[in-house]
Amino acid sequence: MPELPEVETIVRGLNAKIKNKIIKDLWTDWPKYLLSKSKTVFLNCVKNKEILKVERRGKNILFNLSDNYILLIHQKLSGHLMVGKWRYFPKGFEASNSKLNIAWQGQKWIPVNKSSPIAEPINRFIRLIFFLSDGNMIALSDLRRFAKVLCGSKEKILNLPEIKNLGPEPLVPKFTFEKFKELLNPLAGGKKGRIKQVLMDQNFISGIGNIYADEILWAAMIHPLTRIEKLSEKDFQNIFKAIKKILSKALKLRGTSIHDYRDVSGEKGSYGNELLVYQREGESCKRCNAKVKRIKINNRSAHYCSKCQKLK
Ligand SMILES: [Zn+2]
Repeated sequence: MPELPEVETIVRGLNAKIKNKIIKDLWTDWPKYLLSKSKTVFLNCVKNKEILKVERRGKNILFNLSDNYILLIHQKLSGHLMVGKWRYFPKGFEASNSKLNIAWQGQKWIPVNKSSPIAEPINRFIRLIFFLSDGNMIALSDLRRFAKVLCGSKEKILNLPEIKNLGPEPLVPKFTFEKFKELLNPLAGGKKGRIKQVLMDQNFISGIGNIYADEILWAAMIHPLTRIEKLSEKDFQNIFKAIKKILSKALKLRGTSIHDYRDVSGEKGSYGNELLVYQREGESCKRCNAKVKRIKINNRSAHYCSKCQKLK
């Protein structure tokens, strides 16, 4: 799932490409995205609205529209938004004659520019498109179809529990070590539980998911199952430093693309080359050479070094 660095990369790309454009229409072959709203009701919410600015809260993308409306997209497991131009092929027959990669044959929407990264096979799961006033489109490629798409008044969207209850943004300057410690301190009624789950809890800190939680805990030399109350002041410091350092570096490198994630131009982020523990099960720890192990926590994999991340 795209995490803070990936979603922020998308948001910056959207602002560079589609700010001040007007949404004219939409297409989807997966109306479930629009939840209880019919396509007509949903379209009325976005149609003829100007995209004033795109923002991020946690892993949510918020399109601020004119008339005080917000279009919210959460890309979930495999979704990624791209900006470009596609052509519609109802039966896909023309696509089979094109020079596009065979993977695109039978797809309904084919990129106009076949040499752009958008035409790479990973980007072919186009399920939702917003048509813009300048002829460009915002398309959601979403293999698993789990993305969430909502539109409503600014007040309504910002008061949704999944937005209102989000924890602090870890990269803003006001997220200080004192603030972090306050959130965790068990004596002051802070967060309880096992550290990896706590880091991934969006209402505790927003934007960290499975990949970066593994990387942060490896850097801080903390076992993912460690309970908060067992952590020392020094551990808190190490975790805090690793959060800032790893997320900033991943953002600078435009995210991790070892799964489906691509940026708005269909291109990969390069933090995948920097991963030190995530998905390295059975390989040697880059710090101590012991084996990297994998365990399941709540049905999600956690990767850690068996030697330098001992369970306290
Ligand atoms: Zn190690």
